[in-house]
Amino acid sequence: MKIEYDVPLKPYNSFGIESSARHLIRVYSEREVFEVMAENLHPVRIIGGGSNILLTEDMDGYVLKNEIKGIEIVDEDDERVLVRAGAGEIWNTLVTWSVSHGLGGIENLILIPGTVGAAPIQNIGAYGIEQKNVFHSLSAIDLESGERVTFYKHQCQFGYRESIFKNEAKNRFFITHVHYLLYKKNHVLTLDYGDIQKLLQERNITKPTISDVASAIAFIRTSKLPDPAVTGNAGSFFKNPVIDAEKFGKLKDDYPDLPSFQTDDIRFIKLPAAWLIEKSGFKGVRLHNIGVHEKQALVLVNYGGGSGHEIWMLAKKIQSEVNKRFGIELQPEVNVW
Ligand code: FAD
Ligand code: NAP
Repeated sequence: MKIEYDVPLKPYNSFGIESSARHLIRVYSEREVFEVMAENLHPVRIIGGGSNILLTEDMDGYVLKNEIKGIEIVDEDDERVLVRAGAGEIWNTLVTWSVSHGLGGIENLILIPGTVGAAPIQNIGAYGIEQKNVFHSLSAIDLESGERVTFYKHQCQFGYRESIFKNEAKNRFFITHVHYLLYKKNHVLTLDYGDIQKLLQERNITKPTISDVASAIAFIRTSKLPDPAVTGNAGSFFKNPVIDAEKFGKLKDDYPDLPSFQTDDIRFIKLPAAWLIEKSGFKGVRLHNIGVHEKQALVLVNYGGGSGHEIWMLAKKIQSEVNKRFGIELQPEVNVW
């Protein structure tokens, strides 16, 4: 186990915030997590790709940079394969691996930045799919007891950008491996979201394959979202709020053009946070080095040299204005450190 001291974290967070870690340890195996535990090092923060964190200060404790790699098929039946991926593997590498092997289930999640180990934390989702749809289990090390544990799907409390790991089990487990059940047969593609169908038609694709869908979504994403390598950001800063039907009815009277999406539970409606933020006057707003993206109001950006504190203050201002106008409290999706 090698400890690096006073390490700049700018390359390790997609906002590109200048912060530093007093101690940084790159972890390449389960054994190294146990070594960290044996040394009784506190406090510990786990970092994957840094694409869902906002650094508002220097990290005084120990930052563990997850580098546990590997993708392998560990079991299969007639219809599905069980894939085991190291938690430090790049998520998009797992997606492109599955697409190139003709395995279905995560193709809609192409180009989501970050690591495999972080995917269950907020139950990543895009274009009508969440990772929970094909999640089987994960292996983790309990940082309190030092035990190796397995979480099966029903134990993870997956919800919309939610899991047990963002709530009661927050910061308690180091996820080392994740298992997914991917389809080699009988996979049903999810195409009824956004512009997927339209783009497939433009490409004259009538019977799309897994690879066609992945390619279409990659194209849409690249044309819409700011690239963190160019403009620092962490994707959607807030979750889309889910409100009850009665509250929705009242809002719709006041704002007839309010867009909405029915959730699986008929009592609740999901609203696009980007619309609420735009109507509150923040779309494209720029304050020195930070701001709200001009095309996507849900994405807060660091144009270079902005601090995590400044971004957090802007986020709070947005929360307060949206609340004043619509009576809705936006919840951050990003983890604020
Ligand atoms: P990090 O930012 O490194 O960590 C996030 C949290 O997970 C932290 O609390 C960290 O401590 C914890 N964590 C990380 N690894 C482990 C581990 N091994 N064990 C325990 N805890 C761990 N998200 C979506 O859901 N859908 C999208 O479509 C999407 N698009 C995005 C687009 C852009 C341009 C960007 C910048 C972000 C986007 N995101 C999206 C958000 C982000 O990519 C995901 O949340 C991703 O899963 C974060 O992975 P990460 O490895 O970067 O996590
Ligand atoms: P979009 O397609 O313009 O849609 C705007 C919002 O409306 C999305 O947030 C989405 O909610 C919701 N929506 C659209 N069509 C829907 C449908 N058929 N059913 C239910 N909800 C629908 O959004 P976008 O910004 O270009 O993003 C496209 C996808 O990538 C979305 O799924 C989004 O979540 C995902 N994405 C996520 C992040 C992140 O950091 N979390 C960043 C970029 C993109 P949902 O978000 O619930 O899908």
